[in-house]
Amino acid sequence: MDLFTEKPRVVEVLPLDGGGRPYAYRVPPEWAEKAVPGALALVPLGRTTRTGVVWRLGSGEDVPEAKLRDITKIVHETPVLTPDLLRIIPWISGYYAAPMNSVLESVLPAVVRRGVKPVLRRSLEVARVPDAEAWAKISKRSPKRAAVYEFVRERGEPVERDAVLAALNVTGGVVDALVMEGLLRETAERVDREAYGDEGVRPTGAPPVLNEEQSAAAAVIGEALDAQAHRTILLHGVTGAGKTEVYIAAIDRALAAGGSVLFLVPEVALTPQTVGRLRARLATEGQRVVVWHSHLSDGERFDAWMAVARGECRVVVGARSAVFLPLNNLRLVVVDEEHESSFKQGETPFYHGRDVAVYRASLNKAVCVLGSATPSLESMANARAGKYALVRLTKRVDDRPLPPMRIVDMKREMLKAKGPVLISKELEIALRERLDKGEQSILFLNRRGHARAVICPDCGHVVQCPHCSVSMTYHRTDETLRCHLCDHTERAPSVCPACRSPKIRHKGYGTQRAEDVLRELFPKARIARIDADTMRQKDGFRRVLTAFRNHELDILLGTQMIAKGLDFHGVTLAAVIDADISLHAPDFRAAERTFQLLTQVAGRAGRGGLAGEVIVQTMTPAAGPIQYAKKGDYEGFLEDELEQRREYDYPPHRHLIRHLFRGPNPEKVSFYAEQFARALEAAHPGGVFELRGPAPCPIEKIQDNYRFQIWYCCDRVTRVMPCILKVRHAFPADDEVVDILDSDPTETS
Ligand code: ADP
Ligand code: ZN
Ligand code: ZN
Repeated sequence: MDLFTEKPRVVEVLPLDGGGRPYAYRVPPEWAEKAVPGALALVPLGRTTRTGVVWRLGSGEDVPEAKLRDITKIVHETPVLTPDLLRIIPWISGYYAAPMNSVLESVLPAVVRRGVKPVLRRSLEVARVPDAEAWAKISKRSPKRAAVYEFVRERGEPVERDAVLAALNVTGGVVDALVMEGLLRETAERVDREAYGDEGVRPTGAPPVLNEEQSAAAAVIGEALDAQAHRTILLHGVTGAGKTEVYIAAIDRALAAGGSVLFLVPEVALTPQTVGRLRARLATEGQRVVVWHSHLSDGERFDAWMAVARGECRVVVGARSAVFLPLNNLRLVVVDEEHESSFKQGETPFYHGRDVAVYRASLNKAVCVLGSATPSLESMANARAGKYALVRLTKRVDDRPLPPMRIVDMKREMLKAKGPVLISKELEIALRERLDKGEQSILFLNRRGHARAVICPDCGHVVQCPHCSVSMTYHRTDETLRCHLCDHTERAPSVCPACRSPKIRHKGYGTQRAEDVLRELFPKARIARIDADTMRQKDGFRRVLTAFRNHELDILLGTQMIAKGLDFHGVTLAAVIDADISLHAPDFRAAERTFQLLTQVAGRAGRGGLAGEVIVQTMTPAAGPIQYAKKGDYEGFLEDELEQRREYDYPPHRHLIRHLFRGPNPEKVSFYAEQFARALEAAHPGGVFELRGPAPCPIEKIQDNYRFQIWYCCDRVTRVMPCILKVRHAFPADDEVVDILDSDPTETS
């Protein structure tokens, strides 16, 4: 067979809901051209027709000719997956222990799988002018047709079909008849539903001239781009150092070389400024930008995906799942705020968007830039090991100073006040100063609701969620107790459910309570709160941020969700109300998260011409992460934390795999996990990994399911996972126990 002229007759297709492996099919001549790897296909499987992706040309198996079935159809004009994505799917499947078809489902959005039809804008125009006799006939026999024809003719230019139907209140049949007779011509044009980043884009002034550090960083990235070899560059730049300008310089370069660009952010809605700036700058350069986020409609999602697949759009900005958009000729991948745990998917497949990004860049010989003011220990370790290049931005633009940080010892405050304190005297004075000067403040409290727990002073009873092993949170607005894990809601009790004491109290503070306290302290201040509760209103987030930017607000209070990437020039005070919440979380990354939070918060103050200040309230002022954040000493923190993690071989020293078991019966779950651990140890005595557990999870019960976990600590996930899967495969299944594997977990509760 001549490979250059003969079209492939057999291809393998991976069905979306099939056995999780590709099957061979024959390609009928009519589909020969389109049946290329990555194309979406309909194929017969058993008695049904399934959607699948053409996996590769030819077949690994020797299926006898007579047994081969034909592909039914190729769905879209263009393949929906690029060759590199076809390689990423098995990699994710292996590394994160997820079936291939479940990975494929994550990669391909439902609308693309279903094959939504593009929206067509159909227009009508006059094709032929009837002679007088014919016209008389039409007007007499069908006045409606005549009216439609007249309507279109009078316009003198193409009119939208729908507009005609609406204006004359006629059915489509009337129009179709005129088209059939050749009097009108109908044209169809595809309408792109994706707002190509035009909405909300404000023209920007001239781009700033890069300073010395920025230029040096851009040069390193530029050289890597020119070399056309894979390189991952960790861009460690203090908050306000101007990382975005460095990204833009790199993007320009990649685009000029004809390549495409993938830009990942932790969450589009929470980084409106970065996204807005990128869109605005690229729009002025005539680039279409696909902004990929969770609020896209099905139609928009479909059009955006196809625009990228067709190569009409070479820049994608989006959150985690944007890493799968079918960009061709990928030259640059940027992961902004690479340390953010939201890049990790919280369900099967538990992939980490940043790590997939690095891998995807490597497959394309593309450059990957990971940017952060507080790089993850994993990325920094890779930089130190020489796997990543490290570039630093050590100064804020225009040499603005990093704001000083004051630590307030809340134990002392409480002794002085002889009771719980939310806003220390120091913070109150600082806030008042800002109000007097007409400057703005941002306050962080990483707990929503009114009170953390409802506790009885007489008997010590704490109201717990009946379905989860966590205490309920008091929400004052509707006098309810809510579980933040399963959303179980009940009326707040007026007496203790255990001893009937009326003294039952709310302990600790949430954002709702903080708002009340602030309003009492500063009745004249304009205060707004941003958390998951207030975010429920559509567009609420953007409205509040706009008001804040326009200085219609004095104080912005919110959960951690507002600590990211916001750039407000009027803010001179940023404060963390309770640093202990993240510091004492049951997670080996608690210290790292706290350091990151404080550093990011500090980054929100003093970004304009005015000097800023940061206040952190804590019961443990001497804690390492707090002291290092105060000094702005990333390196110090890094050394210290690496040392601490060494003790238990925690990442980045070794990899962790979490094996979670859950079910309604705690004895059964624990027994099952125990048996699994024994079986694995028997199969791999002193093998390539160290097994820890099983033990109950920090949160022992969620939604009536009891939870136990085993940890596997190893050097290479890809070596260990097959061992685990082998044992798991042979292990008897139990209806009442579900087990889940998570490689490199960020969720440990
Ligand atoms: P980072 O992401 O590193 O915290 P940004 O990219 O948000 O910092 O930049 C901070 C601010 O400095 C932005 O308002 C940006 O427009 C501005 N900026 C960036 N680079 C320069 C420069 N070279 N000259 C002047 N202003 C700059
Ligand atoms: Zn009680
Ligand atoms: Zn619950």
